[in-house]
Amino acid sequence: MEDWTYASKRCAVQVVYKLRLCAGTSHGFSGSRAATTNAASAAFRDKDIKALEPTKLRVAFVTHLHSDHTVGYPDLIFTPWTIGRRVPLEVYGPKGLKAMTEHLLEAYRVDIETRTNPDGNQREFPDGHKVNAHEIGPGVVYKDANVTVTAFATKHAMESYGYRFDTPDRSIVISGDTNPTQATIAACRGCDILIHEAQTPAWLATRPATFQQFAAKYHTRTAQLADLAREAKPRLLILIHYNALSPEELLSDMLTRYAGHFVVGRDLDVY
Ligand SMILES: [Zn+2]
Ligand SMILES: [Zn+2]
Repeated sequence: MEDWTYASKRCAVQVVYKLRLCAGTSHGFSGSRAATTNAASAAFRDKDIKALEPTKLRVAFVTHLHSDHTVGYPDLIFTPWTIGRRVPLEVYGPKGLKAMTEHLLEAYRVDIETRTNPDGNQREFPDGHKVNAHEIGPGVVYKDANVTVTAFATKHAMESYGYRFDTPDRSIVISGDTNPTQATIAACRGCDILIHEAQTPAWLATRPATFQQFAAKYHTRTAQLADLAREAKPRLLILIHYNALSPEELLSDMLTRYAGHFVVGRDLDVY
């Protein structure tokens, strides 16, 4: 339920839950529970964002390896290949990404062998399913003519990163799953768009104690996000990762706390 697409003249950034994508030649970000490629496909088709044509999904940035952020990863690896991507996928993310990638490729070994054998339907572009997985640290992790991508460490239950995307006409920061951090504020300062997770106290109160304890350490409440945004001063704040909470509930909670410009992100919104 949480896919967003942002488009500018030269670059599209797609946020599929926690994987983001900037396309031109297409940089993606990755991590999704919904089908990553389907979201890009819908953006390409319904929103006329040509850079998100699925075979152009070639670069992805992963915030962390929780399953709700990575179940779409094999989809991103394989679906664009089967419809025509000829080059390996380039993926950037925390330690553990390489092992996850190797295991996924092994899990689909029969599929890969069948598609690339002398009778296979992808035999003429056998590199399209390959993945170059880059395990990163904070700093600039990617740069091309359209975008510079800078990673910053966040505070979650495992190694995790947020990312800042600088394009010729906009700067976009995505938090990933995290407790409030100064690094996020520093990454945003002056940014056009900050995409940040948020949970309301009313919703958290309905959750089991272990969940509440976990959330207090590794996620962000709306009051905390309001404080953070007042310091970070994004031109637009987009709230994401609100789980079973309805967009209306989150909107009314945040309206009482934050006077800046913000929206609750919804599938395939374009900003
Ligand atoms: Zn997480
Ligand atoms: Zn999550």
